Amino acid sequence: MTTFWCEWAWLGGDRPEPGVEILVSGDRFAEIAHPTAPRPDAVRLSGLTVPGIANVHSHAFHRALRGRTHSGTGSFWTWRDRMYELALDLDPDSYRGLATQVFQEMLASGYTAVGEFHYLHHQPGGAAYADPNAMSRAILEAAAETGIRITLLDALYLFGGLDQDYVAPQGAQRRYSDGSAEAWTERLDALHVASPTQRVGAAIHSVRAVDPEAMAIVGDYARRRALPLHIHLSEQPAENDRCLAVHGVTPTMLLDSVGLVDENLTAVHATHLDEADISRLGAGRATACFCPTTERDLADGIGPSAALAAAGARLCVGSDSHAVIDPLEELRAVELNQRLATLTRGNHSVPDLLTAGTVNGYRALGWDGGRIERGSLADLVTISIREDVAPEHILATAIFAGARCDVTHTFVGGSLVYQNSQG
Ligand SMILES: [Zn+2]
Repeated sequence: MTTFWCEWAWLGGDRPEPGVEILVSGDRFAEIAHPTAPRPDAVRLSGLTVPGIANVHSHAFHRALRGRTHSGTGSFWTWRDRMYELALDLDPDSYRGLATQVFQEMLASGYTAVGEFHYLHHQPGGAAYADPNAMSRAILEAAAETGIRITLLDALYLFGGLDQDYVAPQGAQRRYSDGSAEAWTERLDALHVASPTQRVGAAIHSVRAVDPEAMAIVGDYARRRALPLHIHLSEQPAENDRCLAVHGVTPTMLLDSVGLVDENLTAVHATHLDEADISRLGAGRATACFCPTTERDLADGIGPSAALAAAGARLCVGSDSHAVIDPLEELRAVELNQRLATLTRGNHSVPDLLTAGTVNGYRALGWDGGRIERGSLADLVTISIREDVAPEHILATAIFAGARCDVTHTFVGGSLVYQNSQG
């Protein structure tokens, strides 16, 4: 049993509670009490302690592009060509090394859990490795090395795009494809994960890369194994245009036509939606994952986060391409983007932003965590509050004025996985 004593802790309300004592047994919270005075044997955490923050959408290998693509011209599609060149260089060993560094950076920034949206499955020419899950295992080993909690979102990718019809994968895309949805299910059946901090999830790369029949197979598989299901959805107008031209419906409605818009779905980006899409995602209680630092870098646009939340969808965030790894920046950008788009402040409350980062993100990755309450997974982040502010302003100070360098401690399953020099 470990005892933590938090100067301030966010337990889900409008303001943090002072003097919160948290007992951890195994990898879960056992008791929470407040206000209390610190016991001599308690681990003292100064500043604001919040539940672990989930990075719901990550492509670890994109981290290698940081600083090398941002000043270029072009669009999402020209950036994608650079990313494809990089994808051809990686093997399981180099991928493990790169992912280890990325996951360490996440822990140091306050992310305790990651959803690795993984589609770099096979050898550069498309042939399987001797172990067809070699690249997946490299990622899981990297996560184990660092201590981050992970959901490996193993993605089905069959086609290189949607033109008049689906186009065969070209170049680097051949690494991504399993050839068929059935082959994807067989590969996932062979991927056994035993660690208490690791699990597998299902993903459909996008409506560009998977046809509706194959989507339905992934959906059935996810339901049968109770896996979360993620998809890139309407990140770019061109994706909507092609989907409308070929299928006569938007990507959201195409997903709905195969019965996938429900509470188990996480729609990543959800940027270019019409009103019917927003209503359907909201009515289905789907989750929308915004990746604002990547979406602005790639000139994607601003997704309708406030309208989605009002319609009933849950929100969460991810750092996606890792141009920036900073959950506080990602969370405040959800609100600040809405201010820029609507000329109105206060579209998302600070507790709602924290809920997106914590409990909603954990739920989207299939974990019972993201909240400081008895029985929940004992993942915590402590953020230094440098300003001398009244209690009612502490949460807003952390979200709107904090940065990754203010994170002093990160715990996963009750274990310390990061501590900075000030902590
Ligand atoms: Zn992505």
